[in-house]
Amino acid sequence: MILENEVRLDFSDVLLKPKRSTLTSRKDFKLERTFKTKWSSKTFEIVPIISANMSTGTFQMAQVFAKNNMMVAIHKFHSPQHWYSQDIKILRHCCYTIGMSTQEYETYKTVMSNLIQQKKLKDKSDMWLCIDIANGYTKRFSDFVKLIREQNPNTVMIAGNVCTSEMVQELILAGADFVKVGIGPGSACTTRLKTGVGYPQLSACIECSDAAHGLDAGIVLDGGMTTPGDIAKAFSANADMVMIGGMFSGTDEQDGEIKQRIVQTNIVLKDPKTNAYLGLEEKVEKYKVWYGMSSEHAQAKHMTGMKSYRTSEGRMEEVPYIGPVQNVIDDILGGLRSAGTYIGARGLKQFGKCATFLRVTKQHNRF
Ligand code: 5GP
Repeated sequence: MILENEVRLDFSDVLLKPKRSTLTSRKDFKLERTFKTKWSSKTFEIVPIISANMSTGTFQMAQVFAKNNMMVAIHKFHSPQHWYSQDIKILRHCCYTIGMSTQEYETYKTVMSNLIQQKKLKDKSDMWLCIDIANGYTKRFSDFVKLIREQNPNTVMIAGNVCTSEMVQELILAGADFVKVGIGPGSACTTRLKTGVGYPQLSACIECSDAAHGLDAGIVLDGGMTTPGDIAKAFSANADMVMIGGMFSGTDEQDGEIKQRIVQTNIVLKDPKTNAYLGLEEKVEKYKVWYGMSSEHAQAKHMTGMKSYRTSEGRMEEVPYIGPVQNVIDDILGGLRSAGTYIGARGLKQFGKCATFLRVTKQHNRF
């Protein structure tokens, strides 16, 4: 047994220190970042925010994200037909997700070749590929990443999840352009509770981005951001991109119907004449169902129930319905612009250089 005694930090353990700034307007802040990828040698400019390949990984989400020059990792339970009915402008902002199964990889190849035939893609490398499994620490996984890289030399490839620098390096050397970082921080995740395994996400970001940048590659920080401020901290900790699920849940564009129920408020109703107590006022509350991709709910919805040797490491919960996702995006982008003016950064790219983190014991804000 080894005990590492150095404290690892989460978003709530730090604040960004305000600094003297010459920036005059938030409008001039550059949200786009330009990337040149290590293996696929692609250059692109995007606002580096990806909607997670959960029920937030939908084509409806991609329509809105495309307008904002952001990306959506489409969840892997869409049928090939879903892909074929999409507009070319939307497809440019979609990332295809597979796990480590040969069948999923075969379907990916079929979908790509049909999209090429339909002239929606020039080449399969026009679409990003995300190889996503819960535990990226096995040799089998890095071998799989290597194989996919050999067969797809020009495709922008994201692989994960891991949360420590040596494994980030291993996956990059196996062929990943970006490594997805995060074990256990997700809003619908119970890994830390079920297994005791995890790594505080801010420290994971600082350590893993350093490892990736040393090899001219990058990281996608995945999970655990619950406010625009957390996202500002993630970019300040040198995340190249962020992947977010929970913050985009409860929106129109998240998969799943809007449900409603009657709930009691704490407003007391009284008879206007007699002043007699009539009860509490009721209101209609709208909500959507939000679930982790390894939850029993997801397994039952998308597969044939849980395999008996596998414990569910995801939860299902009801989240308030909050309307169009564009409102959430505006809130996030507004927060990032404002953070830039506080720390003296002209764009997302400068966040890492400009940021000084303060370790704090308590944040006094409630969101
Ligand atoms: P969020 O932004 O909601 O905090 O985190 C999103 C991330 O949570 C996803 O991109 C994915 O990496 C992770 N995730 C999604 N479903 C599950 C699950 O069922 N279990 C675990 N451990 N993580 C999940």
